[in-house]
This record gives sequence, C-alpha cells and structure tokens, in this order.
Amino acid sequence: MDRIMPNRLDRGFYKYQKEFEDKALEVLRSGWYVLGREVENFEKEFASYTGAEYCVGLASGLDALWIAFRVLGIGPGDEVIVQGNTYIASVMGITINGATPVFVEPDEYFNIDTSKIEEKITEKTKAILVVHLYGQASDMTTVVDLCKKYNLRLVEDCAQAHGAKWNGRQVGTFGDIGCFSFYPSKNLGAFGDAGAVITNKKEIADDIRVFRNYGSEKRYYNKVVGANSRLDEIQAGFLRVRLSHLEELAEEKKKICERYSEELHNDKIILPEIREGATHIWHQYVIRTDCRDELIRYLDENGIGTIIHYPIPPHLSEAYGYLGLKKGSLPVTERYADTVLSIPLYNGMTDEEQDYVIRTINSF
Ligand SMILES: *Cc1c(COP(=O)(O)O)cnc(C)c1O
Repeated sequence: MDRIMPNRLDRGFYKYQKEFEDKALEVLRSGWYVLGREVENFEKEFASYTGAEYCVGLASGLDALWIAFRVLGIGPGDEVIVQGNTYIASVMGITINGATPVFVEPDEYFNIDTSKIEEKITEKTKAILVVHLYGQASDMTTVVDLCKKYNLRLVEDCAQAHGAKWNGRQVGTFGDIGCFSFYPSKNLGAFGDAGAVITNKKEIADDIRVFRNYGSEKRYYNKVVGANSRLDEIQAGFLRVRLSHLEELAEEKKKICERYSEELHNDKIILPEIREGATHIWHQYVIRTDCRDELIRYLDENGIGTIIHYPIPPHLSEAYGYLGLKKGSLPVTERYADTVLSIPLYNGMTDEEQDYVIRTINSF
C-alpha cells in the first residue's frame, strides 16, 4: 500500500471531478472573475445552509476574523477573550486590530472551558471569540449567557466547524458574527484561499460588504478605509459544488471517525469525546498520548503520516512574545500542545487505509 498521508486533497477533487471541471470552464468562459453571480449565489446558499440571514464572501478565514472585529469597533485598549489552544489565526484576528487577546484554558473537548471565562472578564473586555476547534461545537449556552450578562460582543471562529451544531443550531449563528475559512483542507474547502462571515444583523453584513471592497459602496466612492478581501468567482463556484455535497462528505468523515472511536484500543492513547448537546464534523481526529514522539516515529516507519495541531500554542509563539506570557502560564493548553496528534482523515479514505491505520495504532 502507498504511504498514508494525514490528508489527501486530491481525493476530494476526484470525487466530483466532472462538476468541478464544468464549473471552472463555466466561470472562465463567463468573462467575470471577481464578485459576481457565483459569489452572490454562494452567499445565499451558505446563509441558507447555516440558517443565518446574511453571508458575505471574503478572501480568507483570517480576513473574516480581523474584519469582524474591525466592524465591531474593537481595537487598541480593548480585550478579547479566546481559548489558549487555538490556531494562531484566531489570535491574529484580534491583534491585527490592536486589541489584546486574553487566553482561557480549554476543557476536555479541546474547546474553551466556559467555567473559566468569567474570572477573565475586566472593564476592558469587549468580546468573546469562541473557536469550535477540530470540528466540535462549543457549549454556546454558557457563552451566550455571559455575553448578555456583561454586554459583550460574540464572534465565532467556525473555520474548522462548517455545519457543526450546538443544541440543534448551527455554529456561527449564536452571536454577532460567525467567521469561516474555506482553505482547501477545511471541511468545506475551495481550491485556493477563500473565507466568509455570516450574521443575522443587516448593518454588520452591509459594513463588511463595503469594507471588503476598499470601503467602497459605489464605484470610486469610498466610505471607509477598507481592504481588498474579495472572493473570486471561480472559488465561489467551486464552493457551491462542494456545498451541494457537504452533507454526504460530512457523513463519510463521521463514519471513519466512528470506526476509529470503536476500533482503536491502545492504553497509551486517549481518544476524542463529544460533549452532550454538541455535534462534531471531524475536521481532525485528535488523539492524546504521553508517548507522542515514539508514536509519530513508529507510524512514520510504518508508512503513516500524522500532524500536530498545534505544537506551539499562540501565547508561546515568537510572534506573541510581546504579550509577556511565560511557559507555565496556561498549563492545560501547554499540555495539549505536548500530547495531541491528528491521525489520517480525509474524504475518499479507503476501507483498506482505515483498516491499516487502526491495526497499526493498535499494535503500537
Ligand atoms: C484555518 C483557520 C483559520 C484561518 O483561515 P485562513 O483561511 O487560512 O486564513 C482561522 N481559525 C482557525 C481555527 C482555522 O483553523
């Protein structure tokens, strides 16, 4: 058998090859390449899929995050609460605006530990950024209550959680703005960079729509100093194709992960769990182990690739040295960084590949 990689994006393409190729030709022949009919239709379809009123397509997930905080007026002197164990882009979405991230430790589901949020709220706190990490919805009931109690803005980073639900409601719809990435490896992936926000508030949707195009509402009339964060027609077209198959793609990944959870048995490994009330769309299948280096080496020698999401937590990265947070300041976050490991998972993973991964991990 060929080496099994942690992810295989080509398999996702070949699954619907004809539809993607037809869409590419359709857009190429249309003569219209940025912000057009494909983008408008994708925005409508994605809003409808998530249950939000509005969707605005953007150039990336990071843009969705920083533009979200920008239009909410969050900047220098303001604090935003976020979990410590996220992908660094979540934190950059805050700090690009000059605001300060305040980190909260994660719970056993890798999401923000909602029992530790309140103690971090100060006079300066303006918002909570909830990250639905690895594809599992966070406990939004507690977060929404805290936002009401302290009059805070609520932004959700749904870059890994397209379609995940908390108590039957889709992530991204609980607060002011839901931010999405459609980077190729995400569960709803384009073939290049792309992102979007969803919101139920018309003013926010309007502001972001203007901001993404140089702050221009009408051509050559600029209302604010904006950005160029427009979504390409060809990516929007590809996303429409993928979105039309998202439920079956999610079902396929879920089946693989259910197999992992049932059939992986090894005392040295802790398997991921799902919180009551949450659904998981399995962006990653993340195990924990105290013998991570040995496991990585053993799997590698047996032709199985793995990835660590993420080996250095944002507060310890060089980029955030200026925050002055030392090793030991977020022990749970740091422990996850030292023990988590993502095993191979992708649409189009064969039964044979799944069998082999399970067998090999069980005999470690
Ligand atoms: C991928 C990702 C982002 C950033 O998205 P890009 O499209 O790569 O800019 C932000 N947050 C999380 C949690 C992500 O996984």
